[in-house]
Amino acid sequence: MPTTSDRRASRSGAPARPDGLTPSERKLLQLGLRTPQDLIVHLPLRYEDETRIHAVGGLVPGQAAQVDVTVIRSEVQLRPRRQLHAVVEDGTGRIALRWLHFYPNQQKQLQAGAALRVRGEVRRGFDGLEMVHPHIGRQEEPLPSSLTPVYPSTAGLTQGYLRKAIARALDIADLSDTLPEALREQHGLMPFRDAIRLLHNPPPDVSEASLREKGHPAWKRIKFDELLAQQLSLAIAREERMRQHAHQLSVRNGALEQALRSSLPFQLTEAQERVIAEIGADLTRAHPMHRLLQGDVGSGKTIVAAFAATQAIDSGQQVAIMAPTELLATQHFDKLMGWLAPLGISVCWLTGSLTGKKRKEALQAIESGSAQLIVGTQALIQEGLSFARLGLIILDEQHRFGVGQRLQLSRKGEEVETTIIPHQLHMSATPIPRTLAMTFFADLDVSVIDTLPPGRTPVVTKLADNARRDEVIQRVVAEVRQGRQAYWVCPLVQESEALQLQTAEDTFQSLAGLLPDLRIGLIHGRLPTAEKSRVMDAFRSGEYDVLVATTVIEVGVDVPNASLMVVEHAERFGLAQLHQLRGRVGRGSAQSVCVLMYQSPLSLIARQRLRAMYETTDGFEIARRDLDLRGPGEFLGIRQSGTDILRFASLAEDTQLVEKAQEAVGLMRSRYPGHARRHMHRWMKGKQDFLRT
Ligand code: ADP
Ligand code: MG
Repeated sequence: MPTTSDRRASRSGAPARPDGLTPSERKLLQLGLRTPQDLIVHLPLRYEDETRIHAVGGLVPGQAAQVDVTVIRSEVQLRPRRQLHAVVEDGTGRIALRWLHFYPNQQKQLQAGAALRVRGEVRRGFDGLEMVHPHIGRQEEPLPSSLTPVYPSTAGLTQGYLRKAIARALDIADLSDTLPEALREQHGLMPFRDAIRLLHNPPPDVSEASLREKGHPAWKRIKFDELLAQQLSLAIAREERMRQHAHQLSVRNGALEQALRSSLPFQLTEAQERVIAEIGADLTRAHPMHRLLQGDVGSGKTIVAAFAATQAIDSGQQVAIMAPTELLATQHFDKLMGWLAPLGISVCWLTGSLTGKKRKEALQAIESGSAQLIVGTQALIQEGLSFARLGLIILDEQHRFGVGQRLQLSRKGEEVETTIIPHQLHMSATPIPRTLAMTFFADLDVSVIDTLPPGRTPVVTKLADNARRDEVIQRVVAEVRQGRQAYWVCPLVQESEALQLQTAEDTFQSLAGLLPDLRIGLIHGRLPTAEKSRVMDAFRSGEYDVLVATTVIEVGVDVPNASLMVVEHAERFGLAQLHQLRGRVGRGSAQSVCVLMYQSPLSLIARQRLRAMYETTDGFEIARRDLDLRGPGEFLGIRQSGTDILRFASLAEDTQLVEKAQEAVGLMRSRYPGHARRHMHRWMKGKQDFLRT
């Protein structure tokens, strides 16, 4: 166990590493557990009830149980694979134990007649009930009087070690309250000290269910703390932004804007007009805009971006539009060129694949200010690129950008010496449920396009078992005969990009073989940019009937004549992703169909996802279900960041607490700034940056 003397021993002894840490200490650091403060808020994932001994005869599958038993027999079996198998009994019944990985001495422990205390999850085996990889202990050990916490851990860090480390931390850490008495009383919240101690060491009378479901007052207090910390940091971020300066882009309804309006082949929807006005008003202010434009796929966000751009350009500033992929950047470039070049606006394109002389020219145009609108990818925020007078940055499909990139963007302005910061417009087709927007994007103002342009017919979604692939192929043929086009989306192969590519090529070959009369194109992420653009252009202009594609077409791609989408192995895709994909059809006036092919049997979650896709085309409803199925972390695309912003509170379930926490922010900041500071310190170390993206 990690006592101080152990640590010293390991420092001088053989296993000492250059950093002087034991392996367990290093694991703690990996989990972000550095100080006693970190350890005390590392709270149990769940609890195990080791306080009782169960009777084997009364066990049911799914139950976590502890039994005192005698070994009847044990042996290493070789079929169906090598495993250690034992049968044990108490006076009331028998149960089997199995290990698929085991050490030789484990077998010794299980000799016939041995008396053991066994703990594990009961399941239905081949031959009655069994436990797989149960924990084995000694019967003489006294039973604990309270529930045993199980902490989030990592390979190689034992629960025993964590428990000891946390117990020590509880003795030395500052457990004083960061909430003023009045606030605690107003919301009926437990003192921090009591809540935290209870969760680490629940007394015998606390029910396991109230802890598991986080309904216990101790959890309530912790969840409130967490939400408050988050709301506080957002308030601080907002205040910081209000201290920053931006160019006032005050030429509204200028010459360019009017020209754009009168050149449009369609009438803007009311919703589009409203958000254009909201954005327009923000841009006239002397503080940087930080606005999220939400609108379902196909709702017409690009033209809104174009209007924001004309206002900035009318006011003499440059505008940068960033898209997450080259394909999308190219499409935006084409579209914006079509709208804005005739008005005399100079539009320039910059992505990572632009090289040589052309790149140099683009950079010069950006730096000299002769390029007024710059369309590109992440390359736009790379080091060293300087704009002559960047007044507005527009980020399309913002959820597709990593947290790091968004952070880089928000810092881009801050590093500039003049402290004049560009306005920012984020656009996203992933509708963010209200609670989520409120919590994570409190520092973003939100505009919503809530209606689609007229004349669209909702996409009909069909589910088809893979076994019906032939029928689906016939459907493609029928669609093409009607003069329309189809996408065929290849299955996602998460494990390997190479495999993914292979699958796309195989699918292309097989479809081309089956349908020799159709003109079939192939597009995937590994194609050179020029080739991608060529294929996309060819599809758009009708030179291909069918486009076999990977998810490169997922976001933004806009080909109105495409009216059929087939997604293979739809069960491998996430809900948001399927919704995005489906949004590629239904863009024209023809009735569009999306066929989701799946491989049975389906997992429960895949079944729920496909059902959601089948039942609704409403992006908000899909988002809500997605939130239920996946939780907010994945939803926001932050899984890769490794930072779980909300560890304890659930946005779906704790809406009341969210509101209370929001309410408390003002009071904490005005009357109790010292408390607020300590609160942030306890809960938000290292996370502020995240919330600013
Ligand atoms: P998204 O919001 O998904 O980015 P787009 O901006 O790509 O949607 O718009 C989808 C399609 O709808 C485009 O072809 C666009 O030109 C067209 N569009 C946008 N606004 C309108 C409108 N008010 N009336 C008709 N078509 C429109
Ligand atoms: Mg778009």
